[in-house]
Amino acid sequence: MHRRSFLAAASAAPWTLNAAPVSSASKIEFDIKRLNLRHTWTTVMSSSAFRDTFFLKWTQDGITGVGEGAPIVRYKESAVTAKNALSAILPYLESSDPWHFRTLLSEVSRRVEGEYAAKAALDIALLDWAGQKLGIPVYKLLGLDPKATPVTTFSIGIDDPATTRRKVEEAAAFPVLKIKVGLGKDEATIEAVRAVTNKPLRTDANEGYKTKEEAVERINFLERHGVEFIEQPLDASNLEDMNWIRKRVHMPVFADEACLHLNDVAKVAQHFDGINVKVDKAGGLLAALRMIELARSLGLQVMIGCMVSSSVAVTGAAHLSPLVDYADLDGNLLIKNDPYEGVLVEHGKLVLPDRPGLGLKGVA
Ligand code: MG
Repeated sequence: MHRRSFLAAASAAPWTLNAAPVSSASKIEFDIKRLNLRHTWTTVMSSSAFRDTFFLKWTQDGITGVGEGAPIVRYKESAVTAKNALSAILPYLESSDPWHFRTLLSEVSRRVEGEYAAKAALDIALLDWAGQKLGIPVYKLLGLDPKATPVTTFSIGIDDPATTRRKVEEAAAFPVLKIKVGLGKDEATIEAVRAVTNKPLRTDANEGYKTKEEAVERINFLERHGVEFIEQPLDASNLEDMNWIRKRVHMPVFADEACLHLNDVAKVAQHFDGINVKVDKAGGLLAALRMIELARSLGLQVMIGCMVSSSVAVTGAAHLSPLVDYADLDGNLLIKNDPYEGVLVEHGKLVLPDRPGLGLKGVA
């Protein structure tokens, strides 16, 4: 079969966008998986019953690394745009040496604008491949102590009070909860949570408060109900009002939507107490690592978060978690059809697999 028609035929089915069958070449496969949510997931941004994420497999020398990126609609990314972006540079990827993953990823960043979920999937797959090839877990490749993982929160999306109470009861195994707020029903939400539990809470307004005055009033309300900190009270573009707010509240305020990439860290440093680093936003584990290290150098606290995704992306992020103060790595726990098992949670603490690479196991 002519190579071009082979690729055209192969792209019709999942996991088959293969390189030409040359034994020493890398074989790279793309897939889009629909992940079904346990509960309809509502935040200030959206409400959804499923998410489509982008998967990448990199095979060479009989070893397959797996990566995943969760596209963020707000930044005009989708699993399809991720797949198209990397399909366009497939010949470059196929001819690249996975051991040169740093230069390879830099070159991909130069060739592909945006598409951070695609870049994250590629980066995770390469580190999974390298770890497996060396026979060591990714945390060891990065020089990290797996015992230093933090507790993860379990997130509760915005819902009616009865559903909120039920979701909080279902999250009994988690010692700290992250409550989504910002849709004008914070009081009812917190009242429903507090009817069921006294455990520490963290909150995320996802830019939902309309003014600095509203933010201060709501944050002080949350403070009175045992909330430890809040993420992104105001629109991402509004940095000036953050300092006004921080003079009037006690809890730390984290940037999430205002801090997407490495070059945002210094911009938000004077306006927030910490940042929420997400591998899907950053464009991979190595990009997230650079954000964490820059944030530390600027005196910021660091949280590692995730999108709704499978155990591939969440386990990737978990391998970085020994470096952070707080973790919110529950995206895989929010779905019903996780195709893999990786990081586990015991009494809230992240437990990294000690198998090579990411340490994933396929779920039949
Ligand atoms: Mg957030």
